[in-house]
Amino acid sequence: MLKLNNLQELYELINNGKKYIIINNNILNIKEYIVNHPGGDNVLIDSIGKDVTNEYNDIGHSKSANNILDTLKVGIINLNNKKQNISENKYYNIYLQIYKLKYYIKVLFNSIYNKILIIKYKYFSNKLFQKNIKNNFIIKEKHKINNELIKITIQNNTKRFFNISILKHIKIYNDKNEFRYYTPIKICKNSNSIELFIKIYENGKITKYLNNLSINDTIKVSGIYGIYNYSNDIIYQNNKPIYLLLSTNIYIICAGTGITPFIRLLNHNNMINRKINIFNINKNNNYIYFNEILNKFNNINYFTENKKFSVNELDNFINSYTYKDLVLYCGPDELGNDIEKYFNNKSIYNFYKL
Ligand SMILES: Cc1cc2nc3c(=O)[nH]c(=O)nc-3n(C[C@H](O)[C@H](O)[C@H](O)COP(=O)(O)OP(=O)(O)OC[C@H]3O[C@@H](n4cnc5c(N)ncnc54)[C@H](O)[C@@H]3O)c2cc1C
Repeated sequence: MLKLNNLQELYELINNGKKYIIINNNILNIKEYIVNHPGGDNVLIDSIGKDVTNEYNDIGHSKSANNILDTLKVGIINLNNKKQNISENKYYNIYLQIYKLKYYIKVLFNSIYNKILIIKYKYFSNKLFQKNIKNNFIIKEKHKINNELIKITIQNNTKRFFNISILKHIKIYNDKNEFRYYTPIKICKNSNSIELFIKIYENGKITKYLNNLSINDTIKVSGIYGIYNYSNDIIYQNNKPIYLLLSTNIYIICAGTGITPFIRLLNHNNMINRKINIFNINKNNNYIYFNEILNKFNNINYFTENKKFSVNELDNFINSYTYKDLVLYCGPDELGNDIEKYFNNKSIYNFYKL
């Protein structure tokens, strides 16, 4: 049973996603009950974090309603007087408003900054990437990591300018004009080079072709694609800022080569001060890469055949969600769908599949 001394302690729990109300100094968890409430769910949602003893008594509830209250009780709270109630409620709302204001100011500045960049880019006539125009890149480096994985560096030898925003990807073509998407793990604007981390499929149209190429061979590349984009500390989806990226908690779930979009994101300076929780899922220990980047973050959890990942595992790591939380996933579709279902069941909507 919870024993709270004031509303401030309650607001901290509400802030962490708990759906508690107070009636007669009892703390009631209404999370499951909201949908069953005969007066509609809005009434209860508006009551979260409040002492609604007077409202409850005014309506005059039945004995069975009182019995329901007993089943919802999770603790007691010491409310000395109403004065404290009002002032602390104000504090909670002000905190939320400041948070939102900070967010909007940041988005505004960012959009002005991006507009300037777009104009600058438009008049940069010598730019390399234009939609579906293929460019020649030369294979500069190729490292076989194991039987299935290669790391390659490709370079464009012209003096043309390119930039690929974090979370965006490129198309690589084979000699039959078939293509697949790949996400750079590093780009170097000075040398016009792109580093890629690729899993080879024995019968794969593009990866088999890439695996057979040698240093100094040429490949065709076009860009830039993707609905997500990271710029100046905000993630965009179809050019709309994803609400709440000022989030302090970011959960990153990646499986296999699904780690690629996160490498540049995690390497970004602004990420290091954030509370980042990483779930890295791989076949076995030999397939864990980028440890030096991942291990910079305090909450990194590796899963392999020996320590299997299942969506319910997430319960052990994520025990509360707030408006400050954001979950990003990249990996096989089947796992992504399971994870999406898990978050939908918990009514968490700040979940994005990259
Ligand atoms: C936005 C985006 C970014 C991507 N970034 C990367 C990246 O950085 N690195 C990377 O290695 N891949 C990445 N991929 C996957 C990549 O685009 C190809 O799908 C993959 O390389 C297989 O292409 P392929 O032509 O060799 O195989 P295909 O000819 O398409 O497939 C041949 C066989 O290989 C198997 N296969 C193919 N893809 C998969 C898969 N994903 N899971 C399980 N089995 C599969 C299947 O059995 C299939 O029948 C990305 C995909 C997307 C959509």
